[in-house]
Amino acid sequence: MADVLDDAEITRILAITAHPDDVDFGAAGTITRWTDAGIEVTYCLVTDGDAGGLDEDVPRAEMPALRRAEQVAAAKCVGVHDVRFLGYPDGRVEATLGLRRDLARVIRQVRPDRVVCPSPERNYARMGTSHPDHRAVGSAALDAVYPDARNPFAFPELREREGLAPWKVREVWLAGSPSPTHFVDVTATFSRKIAALRAHESQTGHLDDLEERIRGWLTRGAALGGLPDGRLAESFQVLDIGLRQLLDTGLRQVLNTGLR
Ligand SMILES: [Zn+2]
Repeated sequence: MADVLDDAEITRILAITAHPDDVDFGAAGTITRWTDAGIEVTYCLVTDGDAGGLDEDVPRAEMPALRRAEQVAAAKCVGVHDVRFLGYPDGRVEATLGLRRDLARVIRQVRPDRVVCPSPERNYARMGTSHPDHRAVGSAALDAVYPDARNPFAFPELREREGLAPWKVREVWLAGSPSPTHFVDVTATFSRKIAALRAHESQTGHLDDLEERIRGWLTRGAALGGLPDGRLAESFQVLDIGLRQLLDTGLRQVLNTGLR
């Protein structure tokens, strides 16, 4: 298991995703544990998922509002009440400077200790998690965490015109990573994850085997994480964004000086 911050040290978490439903497939069981523990969780969705849905009778123009409403309903199932949308077009996301600035803005507004976002790496074993929008959002979100949100001289307009002070995120959890390092037991929150997924009716309404399918994935996650049989786990790659490393280095310097 990776070295991760204790949830007791965490006040606020920001989950950044490309599409409505991404956070529910990847992390809703874990998020339920956090909100149950009193941690404030905010969602930031880069697109409205307007290229999604399967029902051709639903006019495409209605899709953004429909999917936003589904995500807000899904968020409620897991205790999240702050859901923000950036409105980028679905299927055409690139990790531009503009997206980095927009994400740095949200990070400075929300001031999260921990950020959850998609992995920017392609996962050859699970192509579905490697949608180009996911990789672009993951890349832009990591750049927004480091260095943009913490550097007072990055996107100076955020500070000068919007009064947003720099903010240091302490830890990032990547969802859909080809190299997960941390496994969260979500057996107790599984039913709320399923409820959240069912709230995305336009995406999951046709999946009669939704629960079985998700149970299969999470069972494999638990096995990979070495959890006992019968447990379910969501998987993440956890990144330390410098603070603990700096503390370690500082400590080593003190020790070295003391020894000299
Ligand atoms: Zn997606």
